[in-house]
Amino acid sequence: MNYDIIIIGAGPGGIFTAYELLQKAPQLSIAVFESGHALAKRRCPIDGEKVKSCINCKTCSIMSGFGGAGAFSDGKYNITNDFGGTLYEYIGKEKALQLMRYVDDINMRYGGEGTKLYSTAGSRFKRECIQHDLHLLDASVRHLGTDINYIVLENLYNELKDRVSFYFDTPVKTVRKTEDGYEVCCEKESYRCEKCVISVGRSGSKWMEEICKELNIPTKSNRVDLGVRVELPAEVFSHLTDELYESKIVYRTKEYGDLVRTFCMNPKGAVVNENTNGIITVNGHSYEDPARQTENTNFALLVAKHFSEPFKDSNGYGESIARLSNMLGGGVIVQRFGDLIRGRRSNHDRIEGAFITPTLKATPGDLSLVLPKRILDGIIEMIYALDKIAPGTANDDTLLYGVEVKFYNMEVAVDENLESCHKNLYIIGDGSGITHSLSHASASGIHVARRIAQQ
Ligand SMILES: Cc1cc2nc3c(=O)[nH]c(=O)nc-3n(C[C@H](O)[C@H](O)[C@H](O)COP(=O)(O)OP(=O)(O)OC[C@H]3O[C@@H](n4cnc5c(N)ncnc54)[C@H](O)[C@@H]3O)c2cc1C
Repeated sequence: MNYDIIIIGAGPGGIFTAYELLQKAPQLSIAVFESGHALAKRRCPIDGEKVKSCINCKTCSIMSGFGGAGAFSDGKYNITNDFGGTLYEYIGKEKALQLMRYVDDINMRYGGEGTKLYSTAGSRFKRECIQHDLHLLDASVRHLGTDINYIVLENLYNELKDRVSFYFDTPVKTVRKTEDGYEVCCEKESYRCEKCVISVGRSGSKWMEEICKELNIPTKSNRVDLGVRVELPAEVFSHLTDELYESKIVYRTKEYGDLVRTFCMNPKGAVVNENTNGIITVNGHSYEDPARQTENTNFALLVAKHFSEPFKDSNGYGESIARLSNMLGGGVIVQRFGDLIRGRRSNHDRIEGAFITPTLKATPGDLSLVLPKRILDGIIEMIYALDKIAPGTANDDTLLYGVEVKFYNMEVAVDENLESCHKNLYIIGDGSGITHSLSHASASGIHVARRIAQQ
């Protein structure tokens, strides 16, 4: 054996597995294989001047490398079972919350101390939302901010680096079952281990599908969330964001009975491009440091789509819609809400003349040519509903960026220990399709590490 345990992927799932193994079973030898760069070397070449849009690097520094997809994120750790994944279905609600709180404690010890923990508990907004048929989900939210999130990752890496063997820029090609464990095969060499933890996240979704096929691990298709990112003056939502930071609000549309929800709220933040397998979609983040904050708040409005028979490829559907927006706009499209409801495209003059300065340079266009009518109708209905609790949301100058797509990995069959049908092969984090967030992915790593340490 080269190692007792090999972890594939150095996102939050992999990092917290390694961290907890060192606490609970320090005698074990551990290696982490990561297709992306070490944290200090992660740099997206888009600088807004020489490189204005994605150049499809061999490994995307936003999605890959130490820290995973969340390294440059807003660092919002939502402590809740209401969203962010279904880990609780495997390990129980109380345990899932306990593990998320444990992760929060670690983040506080490694540089996050002093950051704010927001909570919906006892919030007057719950009542106000219900009065307008909007439903505020329960959560505590630790907002690290992009800057502090990075520091926490740096500190965690320094803690791990001398006791864990890290292999960066080393994508794992395949995993083979051997008589007494697993063989992890990379381009140049193969490594053997007794136990293997796979935590390859969203960027590893296609690879994960292949591995499941090769090892006959059952999977089922998951959903895709489609919608837009809304950007408006921070004042419009400040009464909510000052108290809750992020509010997850769900609305059932009158027209079709679809659920539309707010997602990833970034007070005083910036809208950003996201590259998934060469397709440019939109996302958002914000900084804890007031000097780096903007005058706008952004959040996504998303509608979930599930497919079953005969079409099962939810992600393929989302990708096609995102591709359409890329075809029309050369990337992300931006449209004023006023233009959308008047059935006209936004152009440079209308965007320039708006009373809000966009934080992302996107192509003015018409989102009704991209998003299916049912989804767009739902989003418009939700904007009017939100206008009742945050007047100004439905102003003409509110900006809508599209498309925002939230891809989910197919769900991999694992048991309550997150162990696959193959003994000692664990599948965790977003790569398992069970988690979709920093806190759930991290908690899944702690859960598996404790299980391994127990053995
Ligand atoms: C821009 C952005 C902002 C976000 N903001 C938030 C937020 O504020 N709050 C929140 O809860 N969530 C947020 N998310 C989601 C969050 O980042 C993920 O849910 C979380 O990172 C999942 O952790 P993970 O460890 O499962 O996977 P990942 O973080 O995706 O890590 C998986 C790692 O595995 C590596 N890998 C993949 N395939 C292989 C292979 N074959 N061999 C070796 N390595 C491989 C990848 O390079 C990657 O580094 C955000 C995501 C993005 C992209």
